[in-house]
Amino acid sequence: MPYTIPKGTHDISGDEAFCYREIEELLQTLAHNYGYMEMRTPIFEQTELFTRSVGESSDVVRKEMYTFEDKGGRSMTLRPELTAGIMRSIVSNKLYTNPDLPIKSWYLGPIFRYERPQAGRYRQFSQFGIEVVGVDSPYYDAEVIFLGYSALKMLGFGNIELRINSLGDKESRDQYRVALKEYFKDHINEMCEDCQKRYEINPLRILDCKVPEDQEIAKNAPVLRDYLSSSAKEYFQFILNILDNYEIPYVVDDNLVRGLDYYSQVVFEFHYTSNNGKYLGAVGAGGHYDNLLAEVGGPKLSGVGLAFGIERIYNLLKEDGILDNKLENFDLTIMPLSDNCLPVAFDLAVFLRGSGYRVDIAYNVKSMKQQFKRAERKLSPLAIIVGEDELDNNQIIIRDLNQKTQINVNINEVLTVIDNIFNGHENEHQCCCHEHEDECHEHNGHHCCSKHHHEEE
Ligand code: AMP
Repeated sequence: MPYTIPKGTHDISGDEAFCYREIEELLQTLAHNYGYMEMRTPIFEQTELFTRSVGESSDVVRKEMYTFEDKGGRSMTLRPELTAGIMRSIVSNKLYTNPDLPIKSWYLGPIFRYERPQAGRYRQFSQFGIEVVGVDSPYYDAEVIFLGYSALKMLGFGNIELRINSLGDKESRDQYRVALKEYFKDHINEMCEDCQKRYEINPLRILDCKVPEDQEIAKNAPVLRDYLSSSAKEYFQFILNILDNYEIPYVVDDNLVRGLDYYSQVVFEFHYTSNNGKYLGAVGAGGHYDNLLAEVGGPKLSGVGLAFGIERIYNLLKEDGILDNKLENFDLTIMPLSDNCLPVAFDLAVFLRGSGYRVDIAYNVKSMKQQFKRAERKLSPLAIIVGEDELDNNQIIIRDLNQKTQINVNINEVLTVIDNIFNGHENEHQCCCHEHEDECHEHNGHHCCSKHHHEEE
């Protein structure tokens, strides 16, 4: 019986994998330029790390964790997000003792959430994220948002909407919770089971409920904005001012509370609308936290971070036609015309690959027609034709597959000629029969030195 792929997971190969790599490289390079260092942490951690940090009231902890007992009887969980592991690692390795705080780190890797499988939602997916720990200025919050926004622009996203809110400091939220409980007191019995639990554990989470009837009730709930302390208001306004100064468009969204319990002060999400006006959902999100490091046993240092879903980025870019066929994009296709030509063709492939070119070659010699078709599929601009007649004179043919012109080239000069062609100096030193360029002439699209003009069948 054939094996099936687990529900909510997906295989990635070929062009898709290539695009994933490009997306990931762009994000990593950007984070590196902003001065972030990479951190790699285990895929599983002690379950308690997540229940304490992500929070008992979050859907992730209550319903979505892959928890198992290891052979030593310890409860372990496949990480449902990466921030908790990063905090644990900062504490385990005492990175907070570094004199140059904050610690600025980026991460990339798979995470696991037992969600109901639906379009664009997976049970294993990858997140790229950054965390700044030891934050003592709202400039860091602004920098993180800035990085996220720049990354999405560089990836090619057009209509990004930044939704932003302030959850205030702990005192602001405590007062707000009391007000929310008071407001929902008369409605909670009509609300969904999840909201009833949220009411007990963390009533803020009710605002995140996706049930339309509950959303209707929540519409008239008091807003957190009215409960912010003056210092929390000031902190938030400082960040908004920076966004204004740099013309990063945003919408303040009173209902934005985020799904994980550890956030305080500023929280944000990046939402995307396709080029034809279709709203496609959130592509990344993040926020500020004050207690997370202390919660996992470290000193009380504030932090701010964000995470992007790599699959989400890929799917949205694809939906909008921003990704093209990138994989079948060779510089050169080498075409051996007979088995006798294979050793030289192989040698050329080794040499040119070693010189940095992306080279395609097949060793089961096919007809010229089939080889030209293959070169077309590989999108190579140039073919190197290795035929016995030319080899007798120590030559090969370089054919420009777009211009449909070709030249014979001495084997020892192949790299120089190709370098010149790729550097845009097609006409320099290509002629192998005249010392001075001006003596050389072209005839019917072929250099004077081309002895053989292979017909394209
Ligand atoms: P979160 O960690 O829930 O704040 O999510 C951050 C980002 O991860 C979201 O904006 C999505 O891009 C992505 N994401 C979250 N859940 C999933 C999922 N089940 N499948 C794919 N991507 C996801």
